[in-house]
Amino acid sequence: MMADATLLEDTTVPAGHPWSRRLEEGDRLRLVDLEGQQAIDFLCYNADDPEERYHAPNTMKLQRQIYLGKGSSLWSVRARRMMTIIDDTCGGHDTIFGCCSFALDEVRYGQTNPRCCQQNFEEELARHGLGPRDVVPNVNFFMRVPVAEDGQVAIVDGLSKPGDHVDLRADMDVLVVLSNCPEALNPATGLRPTPIQVTVYRPTESSR
Ligand SMILES: [Zn+2]
Repeated sequence: MMADATLLEDTTVPAGHPWSRRLEEGDRLRLVDLEGQQAIDFLCYNADDPEERYHAPNTMKLQRQIYLGKGSSLWSVRARRMMTIIDDTCGGHDTIFGCCSFALDEVRYGQTNPRCCQQNFEEELARHGLGPRDVVPNVNFFMRVPVAEDGQVAIVDGLSKPGDHVDLRADMDVLVVLSNCPEALNPATGLRPTPIQVTVYRPTESSR
């Protein structure tokens, strides 16, 4: 990913499972959709003051666009840049549809998956002293949610191909929490949840 950088982590997150890490300002995070059409539910928090966290409406308003792609920033509830997408081979990432939960799937499908993103977020946030009320509307990398002119909206097949990636730069010290979506009842995961790769790099001082 970068010539003058130290690799801090290289992890494969199994299908349906969460991951989290604290990043320093300037660190780079790469998310790789290893097999394609895999949604990654994603949240970030100011690492030192988690009341400041990703805010979907501020992100949409400040970029005048509901989809995320290269050049997009994730903005906080205090309207500060938290992370910026510095490379992206897919585009069209969702900001509006939030995450799956047992309760939601019971209502819309009359059944549930073995896991859900709401539970994944809660479990992972608990490791950092945060709780259910800290699960806010999240980014969905690689999930496709077209909005029609009349307002109709639905999850459709993702555009990501095997190996597609998103690279994010931390614009402050952040806690990143993601759920590799377990949803097998709609096209968020191509009806088949698959693993992702997560790598973290820290640029060497001279290249920052
Ligand atoms: Zn999910």
